Amino acid sequence: MKLTASLLASVLSIMVATAAPLEGRDNPHNVEPYQDKHSDVAKLFVRAGEKAGKPLANGPTIGSAEWKALYPPVEKVPDVSLTPKSWTAALAAAKKAGGYPSGVPLTTADASGNYAYPAGVNPSVEPVCSFPNGCNKASDFYNAPDGVLALSFDDGPTAATTNLTNFIKKNQISASHNMIGSHIVELPTQFQQIIASGGHLSVHTWSHMHNSALTDEQILAEIGWCMQVIYDNSGLVPKFWRPPYGDLDNRVRFIAENVFNLITVTWNRDSRDWAIPSLFDQTVQKSVDEVRSYVNGSKSPGMNILEHELNNACVTVFETVYTDYVNDGWDIRNLVSLVGRRRL
Ligand SMILES: [Zn+2]
Repeated sequence: MKLTASLLASVLSIMVATAAPLEGRDNPHNVEPYQDKHSDVAKLFVRAGEKAGKPLANGPTIGSAEWKALYPPVEKVPDVSLTPKSWTAALAAAKKAGGYPSGVPLTTADASGNYAYPAGVNPSVEPVCSFPNGCNKASDFYNAPDGVLALSFDDGPTAATTNLTNFIKKNQISASHNMIGSHIVELPTQFQQIIASGGHLSVHTWSHMHNSALTDEQILAEIGWCMQVIYDNSGLVPKFWRPPYGDLDNRVRFIAENVFNLITVTWNRDSRDWAIPSLFDQTVQKSVDEVRSYVNGSKSPGMNILEHELNNACVTVFETVYTDYVNDGWDIRNLVSLVGRRRL
């Protein structure tokens, strides 16, 4: 069924009303899954129609051309001339407050699309500390607590989101969804399905670029616009994010954490579902076998596994191994469970 714009608007108002704090089981240490509404970072995000103090009032209908015009063009790095002045001021204030890392050059891509730092720079150590180059910081959430499967799906919403959220609802679990802002603009109905499934809304940038190759102002825009579109359409300002490709270094961390107060989540297991079907001869069965080897392995540390809702093949991998997780006694929670019980 294709929803009309007006029906979408009424669905949204219901969804916002049900976007309540997560169940206790996903929030064992009373960690807030979203930014405090009165925090400085929450004040960086203002919705169309919100100035009168009535959330969502007078805003354009979701999915309409007027609504899409609130956001930068999709699937590319937002033009920094569109960046709200308050965000730019927050970046300047964060730099002035100290801690901005010097000596972290931008990466560039070679002809094969591999991103690398300039010759002579060691990205595996300070001051760069690049996650794809094996460097973890104490502030990164990498491992899950013992026995916990920290469930999250990247790259949504997509056409496969409907299948995934139906499965999640049927099994009464909750996942974090690390979402691409452009995809929310393209598929607002699927975004609302994520909210309706009890999903935890998390950031995966506006257009899924390699952050390490972007300027500070572009990283600001990539993260900021993703937070903006999530907030506009849920009333919730995200507190968690996962960098696309895990492309994270100290410069990226500084902007995510010191400007937007985000909790950075990487991963300690990879389902490799992102490679199905076109890369490295990866198949659903190979990903299933890979994940099963983790499920049947040690529960210490727990699993913070990279999974996607890119397409139905990715969703099938999760649905196929779900019974194994349950039968093997894994405690299935969303990413909020990582906080407060971190084990690096
Ligand atoms: Zn991704």
